Amino acid sequence: MLFRKIEYAIEGSASKQRVLDSTPLNVMKFFKKSSKHVIFFFLSFVIANTFLAYIIGSEQLITIITDPIGSHIGGLTAITIFSFVFYAVFARFREQACVVVCPYGRYMSSLVDEDTIAVTYDFKRGEPRGKFTKADKIQQKGGEVQQAPRGDCIDCHQCVNVCPTGIDIRNGIQLECVNCTACMDACDTIMTKIDKPIGLIRYSSFNAIKDGIRHKMKPRIIAYAVVLMVLITTVSYLFAIRPELEILILRQPGTMFQKIEIDKYANFYVFQGVNKTYNDLPIEVRLLHPQQGTITPLGSFSPILHQSAKEMRFILTLPMDQLSKSQTKVKFALLSNGKTIKEIETSFIGPENP
Ligand code: SF4
Ligand code: SF4
Repeated sequence: MLFRKIEYAIEGSASKQRVLDSTPLNVMKFFKKSSKHVIFFFLSFVIANTFLAYIIGSEQLITIITDPIGSHIGGLTAITIFSFVFYAVFARFREQACVVVCPYGRYMSSLVDEDTIAVTYDFKRGEPRGKFTKADKIQQKGGEVQQAPRGDCIDCHQCVNVCPTGIDIRNGIQLECVNCTACMDACDTIMTKIDKPIGLIRYSSFNAIKDGIRHKMKPRIIAYAVVLMVLITTVSYLFAIRPELEILILRQPGTMFQKIEIDKYANFYVFQGVNKTYNDLPIEVRLLHPQQGTITPLGSFSPILHQSAKEMRFILTLPMDQLSKSQTKVKFALLSNGKTIKEIETSFIGPENP
């Protein structure tokens, strides 16, 4: 809608746009067309950046923008492709993308019935339609003229002319309708000009117009509301219990135990952490079980930066008398700022007969 409003602001109404399209190229036409497309591309570029920030994170995007171009050729290519795709959709395909590509419209059509409120033509008031005649003009001025009874629709086709998907809403609710309300505005303008009440095309439902009953609460509406509430509650609950820090400790795949000195064995572990908070979190790993053992970080347990993931490695050394057969259960506690965040159980591989 934003793009259409910009187009209306620069080139005028749909009929004026058609006139402009059919005129030969001149300074004014060049100025209007080029300024429209420059604005369209600029907005597409902004939308592409926003979309990319949603996928890769705003900080990563700022890094791509502020670093030299040569270091992020991939990112620059992605932004350029996204910008051109959005530009093509907004400048060319428009509502065709809604009608042909987008699955949302198809899915929504399965929820629609004759009580659904949508942009609807009031056929009871509008029919039988007929052209606006001299007799109508005389009646408009208060004169008395005999003519066959007629509805309010003067068959001017303005609602069809402005429709971006090219449908005639007077034929009923259709799949192609994107509820842009352009036909409502066009018809209201006509009704005002001919001194009739506005709202010949308005938000209503087929049954509301047919029976004159404005709204009926049906089991279907209640069922949709219940499903919606369940979904909102589930998503809210999942957000509420979402762990701020996700931690995983695994024995390094493909490694076995190492014998250290005469009575000690060591295993190699990988620590993976995802910090979803906006603060850097210091991390400490402690051994809870068995009671004797030593943790040796390879490097150090440096803080996990906000909104980022980190992988660290450490070695756990256990004395022989703490081992039970070839697999010993070990339990770690993960602490941040002195607070236990999580306890993780995993295994320690040792010799068959320690
Ligand atoms: S704009 Fe209104 S009056 Fe004109 S054809 Fe459409 S419904 Fe009828
Ligand atoms: S609301 Fe009216 S103008 Fe817009 S798509 Fe539907 S029928 Fe066409």
